[in-house]
Amino acid sequence: MSARAGIGYDSHRLVEGRRLVLGGVEIADAERGLIGHSDADVLAHAVIDALLGAAGLGDIGQHFPDTDERYRDADSMLLLSEVCTFLDDHGWRVCHVDATVIAEAPKLSPHRDAIRLSLAEAAGLAPLCVNVKFSTNEGMGFIGRGEGMAAHAVASLERAD
Ligand code: MG
Repeated sequence: MSARAGIGYDSHRLVEGRRLVLGGVEIADAERGLIGHSDADVLAHAVIDALLGAAGLGDIGQHFPDTDERYRDADSMLLLSEVCTFLDDHGWRVCHVDATVIAEAPKLSPHRDAIRLSLAEAAGLAPLCVNVKFSTNEGMGFIGRGEGMAAHAVASLERAD
């Protein structure tokens, strides 16, 4: 099989007193941030799972367990780079990543280009190979109530050889 696709999903809870980091970009105008063992970058985590899924190489929890102190407050962009190196070692080349962040607030579209460039740089991809979209949940459910954010991602890979 020479080409593959994978999906990723993640969600994190929003709390006071945390930075909001999405795709490695700090959203300075956010009133609250996501909480987790690492920097809780929900977008980066969904992208990592999509990449690992496409390669058939497990999931983020297997590679970076939240019981491991090495990953406390970890920069998820470093984890993303590590995963891309891991895929490269296994003979996979990343073709494209597409993702959607679902958040009620703040407005994220002004940060689209910065997030796209940040993800592309961490993954060693051309910016045109990374797409990021933003959606709200129209006030419904845990996202609509502002309790958390979620992200979905799809990644495609091809054999490097
Ligand atoms: Mg996560």
